[in-house]
Amino acid sequence: MSRSAEKWLAALRDLDVGKPVRIMNVCGGHERSISVAGLRSVIPEHVELVPGPGCPVCICPEEDVYEAIQLALKEDITLVAFGDMLRVPVNVPKREPRSLEQAKAAGGDIRPIASPTEAVRIAQEDPSRTVVFFAAGFETTTAPVAAMLAEGAPENLLVLLSGRLTWPAVAMLLDSGTPGFDALVAPGHVATVMGPEEWQFVVDKHDIPAAVAGFMPDSLLAAMYSVLRQIRDERHFLDNCYPQVVRAGGNPEARRQIDRVMNVVDANWRGIGIIPKSGFELREEYAAHDARKRFESYADDSRKRVGEMPPGCDCAQVVLGKIYPNQCRLYGQACTPRKPIGPCMVSDEGACRIWWSAGYRDNVWEGRREAGG
Ligand code: SF4
Repeated sequence: MSRSAEKWLAALRDLDVGKPVRIMNVCGGHERSISVAGLRSVIPEHVELVPGPGCPVCICPEEDVYEAIQLALKEDITLVAFGDMLRVPVNVPKREPRSLEQAKAAGGDIRPIASPTEAVRIAQEDPSRTVVFFAAGFETTTAPVAAMLAEGAPENLLVLLSGRLTWPAVAMLLDSGTPGFDALVAPGHVATVMGPEEWQFVVDKHDIPAAVAGFMPDSLLAAMYSVLRQIRDERHFLDNCYPQVVRAGGNPEARRQIDRVMNVVDANWRGIGIIPKSGFELREEYAAHDARKRFESYADDSRKRVGEMPPGCDCAQVVLGKIYPNQCRLYGQACTPRKPIGPCMVSDEGACRIWWSAGYRDNVWEGRREAGG
């Protein structure tokens, strides 16, 4: 642990808030840092760190993954997607490919990419072939997709967009009356793009302390210290504990490009349902690049468990911070990173995978309680 992190940890331990406090984070990177650095075992016992909706792969609608699989199998296209998406399972009969990885094995031209630049390169290599970019992600992933289209993508490059905004999921939790947390550590990388002001509603509307944090333990500990002190002092505000990169207003050019290319719409979150104003769709001006406009819909509402998590998987509960990953009955039993059942064990940003990788091996399903209940 760095000297700066040790300093924040000591300050945090000295702080007496006089009651138990639950702090939620909404970023897979935050959860990874917290778990890998073992912060849960060194902070005071009365402080609970709850992983929240920080994994875009985990909440990507099952229907969208199914559509991507069908496009790759039934249309003469190349489908590109971020690597995490390839193993996400959908609910289909055993004889059918249940992930993009299996669709690739079944003959689909499916390629993992790491950035929109790679999608552009693949499209440019063969202008006669249609390339569909299955773009699922939160604001930080969606912004480069918007930039790619705003700056002029190749004609043969289409986008199957599943972009989501982070803050509406937190707003939904807070509006529910049982959010399951007393303070929020807001995602620094999202704030870098969209501006920290997006999280002001947490304080103004719900009187919950909030602090924006970076990925390193010292920034996370500083944010935890900030919200705990706010609780002790009964003076709540939005603190920026990542001032090195998070500026008021975020990245104006990135936001302009998102606004130019996309509308914000009500959107479905896997296992959770529709969250108002939480998704992106391409504007009409970019219809020529919209895979949903170019190809017929492969939606099939007759599928069993359409839209749901796999049987027995509690990912939606994990994503909403209602249970910890190891409170799922399947955690470490039927479900491991080697043989994942649900998207939270597939994605690098999924809390289940992060916890397993960080060495949490106990399954505490028996006697579990819901954090928000
Ligand atoms: S352990 Fe596996 S089955 Fe359980 S919630 Fe996590 S991903 Fe789903």
